[in-house]
Amino acid sequence: MPDQPHQRPFGLPSIGREEIEAVVSVLQGPQLVHGPRAKQFETDFAAFCKGGTAVSVSSCTAGLHLAYFDRGLGPGDEVIVPAQTHVATAHAVEFTGASCVFVDADPRSGNVDPDAVAAAVTERTRALSVVHYLGLPAEMTAINAVAAKHDLLVVEDCALALGSWLDGVHCGLLGDLGAFSFYPVKHITTAEGGMVLTRDAETAARITRKKAFGVDRTHGERSVPGVYDVTMLGFNYRMNELAAALGIEQIKKAAGFLQARAENTRILRAALAEIDEIELLWAGDKRFVSSHYCTAAILSDAVAPRRFEIVARLKEAGIGTSVYYPRAVPQMTYYREKYGHPAGAFPHAERISNQSIALPVGPHLAGEDMVAIAAALKTAIRDSAP
Ligand SMILES: *Cc1c(COP(=O)(O)O)cnc(C)c1O
Repeated sequence: MPDQPHQRPFGLPSIGREEIEAVVSVLQGPQLVHGPRAKQFETDFAAFCKGGTAVSVSSCTAGLHLAYFDRGLGPGDEVIVPAQTHVATAHAVEFTGASCVFVDADPRSGNVDPDAVAAAVTERTRALSVVHYLGLPAEMTAINAVAAKHDLLVVEDCALALGSWLDGVHCGLLGDLGAFSFYPVKHITTAEGGMVLTRDAETAARITRKKAFGVDRTHGERSVPGVYDVTMLGFNYRMNELAAALGIEQIKKAAGFLQARAENTRILRAALAEIDEIELLWAGDKRFVSSHYCTAAILSDAVAPRRFEIVARLKEAGIGTSVYYPRAVPQMTYYREKYGHPAGAFPHAERISNQSIALPVGPHLAGEDMVAIAAALKTAIRDSAP
């Protein structure tokens, strides 16, 4: 057997003794749901983002769904959605019966193009959906101007945007509300979990009811145990205490994780600059602080047909990669069958989806790993040549 190469996975949750002890202590107590930890995590999370009210939820997808559900969106309504995103961004709209109107990405950043958003508004448009692609804040100033002109709700998909700031404001506080993800490969994890963040305390209060069956009072507010009324429809989208205990420990470490990501990204981008066959997305200017989720290497047209061979060679070299995202959303079968957009309808999103390889920069890796990853990519591109 040849030696296993040193492994550099794409993502690896950073779980320490603190997280393990926090979870065990929940298990030793009586309260697995409705306890103090979810509240504590919400407070700590809003403090990290320096503003707003945070509402813990069971996932980012649940948070996005709540955002549209809360506004009463339904059949006949339209939401403008980026073509270049995770399907959850679009699914959350579809759950309500409203329709997605997809718009292409800005080829430079991968974020939604505000001019394309403005051009897609119709009299049926009710909301704008924005994703901060790979952690780089979208052009929210221009997007909010479109929203203000037509009185539209702005929902930010912040799944990759913990630690992303635009003009000193944390993502999620730029539009009407944002939803974050704590899925294992994201910046911090609660296994499964999410958070809604909003500047509007009333929206936060309504979402708190709607994530828990539409019950009119929380556990703590019930004078007679078990007695409550239900004043509206609601889901079961709560975060349990085990997840919240993880979140409390993880958010304490978030600044350190983000610093490691920023440093790794700097080293990786410098090393990748020497590879002629790839292009990198725009890293932003002073207004933009990215959360550096990963670095997408976009293969040139000549090399792109060999993408999966290059990925396989990287895997052989112990380097984990991913694809963000495997197809532009309108080209996923469900959306293609529903909306019928032909291939080529969203050329910039399709180019990024079809030609990029996402490289890891997480805090489980160090600067020397970045140099090794760039070198391995260069070798893989060379060795995959016909
Ligand atoms: C991961 C991800 C989601 C889904 O998050 P969950 O917490 O798993 O629901 C949504 N949007 C984007 C952009 C993502 O990357």
